[in-house]
Amino acid sequence: MNTAFILNACLHIHAAIVAHEADIESLDRAIGDGDHYINMKRGSEVAAGMYNTLLPLPADEALNKIGMKLLSTIGGASGPLFASFFMSMAKTAQQNGANTPLEIAAAFAAGVQAIMQRGKASVGEKTMLDVLVPVSTTFTTLAAQGKSSQEIATALKQTADIGLESTRNLIATKGRAAGLGERAIGHLDAGAKSCQVMIHAVCDLMLKEADA
Ligand code: ADP
Ligand code: MG
Repeated sequence: MNTAFILNACLHIHAAIVAHEADIESLDRAIGDGDHYINMKRGSEVAAGMYNTLLPLPADEALNKIGMKLLSTIGGASGPLFASFFMSMAKTAQQNGANTPLEIAAAFAAGVQAIMQRGKASVGEKTMLDVLVPVSTTFTTLAAQGKSSQEIATALKQTADIGLESTRNLIATKGRAAGLGERAIGHLDAGAKSCQVMIHAVCDLMLKEADA
């Protein structure tokens, strides 16, 4: 995973978030406070805007700088969570490298672990973790089996879709929707939706690069 890929991924993520404005906005309006789209748009815009500054840096430094910037620009619960993701991913990439699929999967897993620690949440609480945790597990499993990046990207998109859908019938035990009890049932979680959108964007970039 080189710096150019990370920065291209940020550009694709930003475009994908903007393209899904209506979905993301309406989900947080239904069971949150309606600001999740704005938070995601601002965060992805800022990360994408760091392209030229970060391009000369090693991948782990670029990831860390993105995390630090997100901490100071995205509000809400999701800002510090995504910031922790990038900073932990950076730390693991710096310590163990992030070149092979298995190393990249390990860095991703460290990022997801950091979200769990910071948010004191786990799978089944109707949050972004219902997408991120299964995606991370699938990523590690397939990388350990030596699957190609095409196979991995295709599987991760499916895993993200299943994780997103799993939030529909959950009650929330973390975040703003936690106060709604059964009224949250029937709605997808906004953070899970934006994570599914971002995973699709990055995996589509992987598939495009593998084709080239
Ligand atoms: P806020 O909830 O402060 O308005 P956002 O709207 O930006 O912040 O983000 C809401 C999303 O953050 C939720 O949809 C959920 O996916 C995620 N989230 C909230 N609390 C947690 C937590 N403790 N752990 C993991 N994810 C969380
Ligand atoms: Mg919100």
